[in-house]
Amino acid sequence: MTEELFREDATLLACTATVLAVDASGVVLDRTVFYPLGGGQAGDTGTLTNEAGAVLVIADTRKHKDRPGDIAHVPAAGSDLSAFAPGSRVTARIDGVRRLAHRRFHTATHLLCALVPHPVDGCSITAGYARLDFHMHEALDKETLTAGLARLVAGAHPVRHRWISEAELDANPQLVRSMSVQPPRRLGRIRVLEIEGVDLQPCGGTHVANTAEIGPIIVTKIEKKSAMTRRVILGFAEAAEGRG
Ligand SMILES: [Zn+2]
Repeated sequence: MTEELFREDATLLACTATVLAVDASGVVLDRTVFYPLGGGQAGDTGTLTNEAGAVLVIADTRKHKDRPGDIAHVPAAGSDLSAFAPGSRVTARIDGVRRLAHRRFHTATHLLCALVPHPVDGCSITAGYARLDFHMHEALDKETLTAGLARLVAGAHPVRHRWISEAELDANPQLVRSMSVQPPRRLGRIRVLEIEGVDLQPCGGTHVANTAEIGPIIVTKIEKKSAMTRRVILGFAEAAEGRG
């Protein structure tokens, strides 16, 4: 089982670890800072470096298909894995720029949930954009949502996580905002993400510590995906300006 350091500290960019297994899914470590694809958030990329200095480029991170609780660090295609046999000591380092983008967008999707009081039935968080699908038929307005996000970012609300029991979750079913993703129950405890005074819901992703850290963010597009789905796409204001 891989110890998930990113669950307690999303700012950690590197850690030392021991290789537990290497197989078709990738390299499994005893502990990691790499977030595996899940809850709509993309997997981390980065490098593993062994004690002799050999570097393995990691192109993606996934929950291991066959080893429950393990995280697979997916090497770039064609990588030589011979220097990363089980027992090897490595330094695992993620792409910090990409992680920060994930943390900013992911926290912004929570703000969007607070602004749009409808169930979520799809979510995708990448380094370039975030996308949230709401189960609703009412129209949404781009400028209104962008202004709402700006207000919540400027509000500098503290963001923190805590763990609750399954019994506590069952007693508060309204905590689950997502229709498509139920919180994982395997661990017997549920991670809850709280944005003080704004939003509270189960979430295992990586976030910033204060909404002010999200920075300038805008709604780039609203799409009517179906009669009962409104898709909202978020972008960083600086990227939109860069595109001119
Ligand atoms: Zn989250």
